[in-house]
Amino acid sequence: MYDTLIIGSGPAGMTAALYAARSNLKVGIIEQGAPGGQMNNTSEIENYPGYEHISGPELSMKMYEPLEKFNVEHIYGIVENIESDGLVKRVITEDETYEAKTVVIATGAKYRLLGTPGEEEYTSRGVSYCAVCDGAFFRNQDLLVVGGGDSAVEEAIYLTQFANTVTIIHRRDELRAQKILQDRAFANPKIKFLWDSVVKEIKGGDIKVSGVTVENVKTGELSEHDFGGIFIYVGMNPVSAMVSKLGVTDDAGWIMTNDKMETSVPGVYAIGDVRQKELRQIATAVGEGAIAGQGVYHYITENFS
Ligand code: FAD
Ligand code: NAP
Repeated sequence: MYDTLIIGSGPAGMTAALYAARSNLKVGIIEQGAPGGQMNNTSEIENYPGYEHISGPELSMKMYEPLEKFNVEHIYGIVENIESDGLVKRVITEDETYEAKTVVIATGAKYRLLGTPGEEEYTSRGVSYCAVCDGAFFRNQDLLVVGGGDSAVEEAIYLTQFANTVTIIHRRDELRAQKILQDRAFANPKIKFLWDSVVKEIKGGDIKVSGVTVENVKTGELSEHDFGGIFIYVGMNPVSAMVSKLGVTDDAGWIMTNDKMETSVPGVYAIGDVRQKELRQIATAVGEGAIAGQGVYHYITENFS
């Protein structure tokens, strides 16, 4: 039996693993993809202390490397369910069941779909959710970025290195993004804005996207615009389906914890973006990982010795 099983190897999960493993616990980390989580989708991180700026994949590797030294076991799998049977927890993947004394859920959040006609049809054919992954395919094109938060504005700025122009379409007349990102976008000659506007339809031919129909939400006016690529950043949803039977989420699926990262089920912790909270950042994910990694040590000492 594992002392702790951590689900997800984003910054939250990797930090919890480091803290738990340094307390000499038997630690497994179950991940369905590459270590790093959402950090792998960004080229430019400049608000993680200690680095003036660093790419997401590079920071991911820096967080991953020490886990080897402390014998954290990496397990590939997609966790489908978590059960609590008194002191024993069961983590169930598509083809394995693992037992642990404690479980730390660090499954993060995933991009939200826009839900307009054409979105699904043209995904990977001009519609993308990852500028870092796909931006270089769109050299010298006119691109559209949907959304007004940190992701939309930061990634729009990133795309200007490849694109001819980048238009940010936002449903209001004011961005949600941090002021520093707004200032950079407003100062960038390649970035234009479509305010008070939403995408009604994504259009294209047999092969790829060609543009969008836009509605001005104040006037109801429709207009047609040509774009070679569309990047969608309209927020995130929690990745918490695996705990739906534990009753630890709010109505939107964010996991509720106290400030020790404990859920209402003893021995089950939640950290990082999947938590109900205000600020979803690498620094907050890491802080919560440290709290949970230390918390499982105390829980095991109190309940299993
Ligand atoms: P995640 O990073 O989401 O990691 C969760 C992990 O869990 C993933 O690896 C996933 O594969 C795994 N997982 C999920 N479900 C399962 C399952 N069922 N079974 C197994 N594994 C599973 N923050 C900053 O501080 N600075 C920035 O500059 C910044 N830029 C960003 C740019 C973009 C484009 C995006 C999308 C986010 C950015 N963020 C930034 C936010 C930051 O990346 C997140 O706050 C942070 O990654 C959250 O960490 P996490 O460990 O909670 O979750
Ligand atoms: P977000 O902050 O939730 O912003 C989503 C944006 O999309 C908002 O502007 C929202 O409009 C808009 N939107 C939502 N639904 C829409 C719809 N159906 N149609 C059109 N527009 C829609 O999400 P995010 O930008 O992905 O950021 C997620 C988290 O990661 C945040 O906590 C953020 O701070 C963090 N992050 C941080 C950095 C950084 O620190 N550099 C970078 C990226 C992300 P409204 O404004 O009108 O609600």
